[in-house]
Amino acid sequence: MPSLPPEGAITGLVVRAHGLWYEVLLDDADDHVVLATIRGGLKRKHRRTDNVAVGDRVAVSLLPDNEAVIEWVQPRVRSLVRTARNTRDTDQVILANLDQVMFVFASHDPEPHPRMLDRFLILAELQQLPARIAIGKMDLDDRPDSPSARERFRVYERVYPVSYVSAKTGEGIEDLREILHGKITAVAGPSGVGKSSLLNALDPEGRRDVAEISGATGKGRHTTIGSRLYHIDDATFVADTPGMRSLAMHAIDPERLPECYPELRPYLGECFYQDCTHIHEPGCAVLAAVEAGDIARERYESYASLRRGDELAEGGW
Ligand code: GDP
Ligand code: ZN
Repeated sequence: MPSLPPEGAITGLVVRAHGLWYEVLLDDADDHVVLATIRGGLKRKHRRTDNVAVGDRVAVSLLPDNEAVIEWVQPRVRSLVRTARNTRDTDQVILANLDQVMFVFASHDPEPHPRMLDRFLILAELQQLPARIAIGKMDLDDRPDSPSARERFRVYERVYPVSYVSAKTGEGIEDLREILHGKITAVAGPSGVGKSSLLNALDPEGRRDVAEISGATGKGRHTTIGSRLYHIDDATFVADTPGMRSLAMHAIDPERLPECYPELRPYLGECFYQDCTHIHEPGCAVLAAVEAGDIARERYESYASLRRGDELAEGGW
């Protein structure tokens, strides 16, 4: 596949998928979305992954009635992928060309679940996606009998950028806007933590709904599959990625687990035993760093319990 679109082509971004139809937001016209199918010849090009996924940059030729045909797909920079379980299947691209992932939890209601956050972070590390954390509903963070959200998430601030926000009071919303600006960000987190409220706070006019196709053809009514990109402003998109939670639940190869905790990385290879699991071995550089306070104990315990498989034994969460 050539890395540049055909000369003079009309280009756009795939914002949503409905079976064989894709919503493409055209680059040159304000919020103009067409409903596109894939050119037959394109379908055979890549076999290992989906031909077209949400987040792909494409070139289209236009047809009447707001329809189009996808003629070209730009090679992907990176993607969030569900890896095929066997060689006959292809990898499924949940979201293409994303710049970062943002995991949202609430300060309270529902109570944050750090082990679930760790699972999400591991998934991001495995797929080499830059990750950040947003703690929402900060207006509820005033319980005298429990530690504040900032205290609880301080251990993460040593490893990842953490934002503290409230859709209700507007706290941190402008900072969040800066963080998302000009990027494609996949947002994930448990339901009820306030993800949609944050989107509304960022985009009160609801411009993202312009991408809705009423469609005289009715083709837009097909069930949406997977991710959806919301247009916040010019080049800023936030993706709703329903597949991320189930991906984070997948079993993790124990051998790869240490590298998924960035704060462990400087010590890997420094242990006495080359195949050290960093659980009980003498001469373990990771355990020494935990003792010295250079690795947060809470995060180390999270690593250790996943490595020992405790969480699976407990039935997970
Ligand atoms: P989602 O499931 O993650 O998209 O969560 P929603 O945005 O639907 O919010 C879930 C509930 O939390 C709703 O009742 C919201 O009104 C409430 N909520 C969302 N953001 C805030 C916030 O910043 N502060 C407070 N107090 N409540 C919020
Ligand atoms: Zn070790």
